[in-house]
Amino acid sequence: MNDLPTVLRERDQALRLIADPCSESAQQIISGADHLRAQTVGPAVHLRGLIEFSNYCRNNCLYCGLRRDNQQVSRYRMTAAEIIETAGEGAKLGYKTVVLQSGEDPAYSGEVIAEIIREVKQFGLVVTLSLGEREPWEYELWRAAGAERYLMRHETADPVLYQKLHPGQSLLQRITLLKALKELNYQVGTGFIVGLPGQTPDILWRDLELAWKLQAEMVGIGPFIPHPETPLGKEPGGTVDQTCIMVALARLSLPYALIPATTALGSIDRFGREAALQAGANVLMPNLTPTFYRADYQIYPNKICLGEGAAECRGCITGRIHSIGRTVAADPGHHPLWDQD
Ligand code: SF4
Repeated sequence: MNDLPTVLRERDQALRLIADPCSESAQQIISGADHLRAQTVGPAVHLRGLIEFSNYCRNNCLYCGLRRDNQQVSRYRMTAAEIIETAGEGAKLGYKTVVLQSGEDPAYSGEVIAEIIREVKQFGLVVTLSLGEREPWEYELWRAAGAERYLMRHETADPVLYQKLHPGQSLLQRITLLKALKELNYQVGTGFIVGLPGQTPDILWRDLELAWKLQAEMVGIGPFIPHPETPLGKEPGGTVDQTCIMVALARLSLPYALIPATTALGSIDRFGREAALQAGANVLMPNLTPTFYRADYQIYPNKICLGEGAAECRGCITGRIHSIGRTVAADPGHHPLWDQD
């Protein structure tokens, strides 16, 4: 495909970098991506306040601690009033965006979610949704209610691996829904897991290609972290180096994208998020979920920031951003090429 960006067109070189993320060439690519990030989106890091409002999920993804078959999880659902109140606290703390995230939980109807969005918009917040696969008419309803962004990672671009990891689901369906979200003019976030059992450098290259083909506004890339209560609990996990080279290649493929330094990275290495911010990332997602629910929302184990209150989280994150010479963004942090109308 001729239009592919150079970094993807030079496939063999990309595959070598992916296979050897600690090499000198990989370090040069990471510096280059950091430099490009500075030129395209600047020094500011956008903060998104994350509200994990339900840990019920109808799916059974093999790597996920919230999977339906995990009986060890204490399940919770926040009420609409709790979600709205938490968003309001986020606005008071200075957040411009909240991310409303849950497992795939049909207990919240399309209409209930639309009403929550309308209320949250009253605080002047940008609303990002991360609710998984729902009906296209619901996506339309929520967009009309004011939601501007939707996160739904494709997780892996290999259809066979996808099916193995997501029983009863298909990559084709996921891509169809991501395209439907684009049609509705959401800023769309996709992304993938690095270090999955059975994953190859070629599959990771295809992950980047898919994000580029979708022209995703956001690309979330996190390491695989084995959760002991899942079928993949004994597999080795992904590393910071593997994840950072993918962040760098994503930045070089999509120069204006919003790319988070994921909490999963911070969970496997104290400075994992700083490493990603210096490899091309420009977003962080501090946790706003009330602390008494947080420990029960663990897609992967040993997640960081389970005990800190929302204000503490914001303070800690701000300090980390300043420590690497970056600033906290003061604007809503939309994708620079997204046209709201
Ligand atoms: S990854 Fe998402 S969809 Fe899959 S089981 Fe976990 S919460 Fe559910």
